[in-house]
Amino acid sequence: MTATKTTAIELEFEALDLTTAHPFGISSGTSVDSKNVLVKLKFGDHIGYGEAAPAKYHDETRETVMAVLGMVRDANVLGDDPFAIAEISDRMNKIIAKNHSAKSAVEMALHDIAGKVAGQPTYKMLGLSGLKAPMTDFTIGIDSIEMVEKKTREAVEAGYKMLKVKQGTSYDREIIETIREIAPEIPLRVDANCAWTPKQAIEMSEFLYDYGVQFIEQPLAKNAHKEDFKYVKENSIVPIFADESVSTSNDVARLAGCVDGVVVKLAKTGGLLEAIRVIHTARAHSMQIMFGCMIESSIGISAAVQLAPLVDYLDLDGAMLLASDPFHGATYEDGYLKLRDLPGLGVTPR
Ligand SMILES: [Mg+2]
Repeated sequence: MTATKTTAIELEFEALDLTTAHPFGISSGTSVDSKNVLVKLKFGDHIGYGEAAPAKYHDETRETVMAVLGMVRDANVLGDDPFAIAEISDRMNKIIAKNHSAKSAVEMALHDIAGKVAGQPTYKMLGLSGLKAPMTDFTIGIDSIEMVEKKTREAVEAGYKMLKVKQGTSYDREIIETIREIAPEIPLRVDANCAWTPKQAIEMSEFLYDYGVQFIEQPLAKNAHKEDFKYVKENSIVPIFADESVSTSNDVARLAGCVDGVVVKLAKTGGLLEAIRVIHTARAHSMQIMFGCMIESSIGISAAVQLAPLVDYLDLDGAMLLASDPFHGATYEDGYLKLRDLPGLGVTPR
């Protein structure tokens, strides 16, 4: 008697401690590390890697991520078909609301396995071969003026070709002036991480316009009313993007007409498939799109890079901000992130 042999997908996870090269400051505080979670999905001889970077503004922590991953493991939702990524995501969404960074780690690991089984990189599996991705920026976090000056010099010397600047201090203008003295021509975008009122945002837009800033990310509070976003958009001379206020495609539709662009991140969408829906929803509303990241290793970054050709701007510097990256993945070359020619996400442990 012969039995049909099926191989179950098995989930393992562990803490992934990341340390940044410099203290990393944003409007809500400064950190030197990120407590992420490494996901390993095992399917036969294949291991699929995923990474969860918990989003503080969604009340996620390493502990909540691990609790969710334990539920996913114990609920037996993974099944035995690594190509059933959409279906597995649906099953996860049925048993667990929100918690997007944990689900994203599982979903990207499924893409990694599917690619490894098929022998193809994830972007090819998604039909995105041959498209060109935009350059990525490098972020200058909030710090003293002396440190902003030092970090900007280092970034320019390291060959970074675009900068993103964190704002939300009492000396925001001085930060911009300092950077512009060192790098007068470098493309610049700013991120206020929810720090400004509508009035401040509009005033800052006039100042930032004079310094050639391309757009302002998340000037207002995460839960600011959409009419406030609309008021700022209509009165700002610099385009306004939403980040913390937008996680999924529903959020994009809700803010249509109220912002000029959105920031998509895997930690907010819950995976690559919903990220694609966010991108297409934004396109349908004539919005611009930036692909962003959290502080994360080359696993999370390489997963995001698979979709990079679909967006207008890239802010995928999470792994470049690290003191050391435990994974080898997409490499930075002259402004661009290049995926390795390997199946799946193209990541290997160092
Ligand atoms: Mg942001």
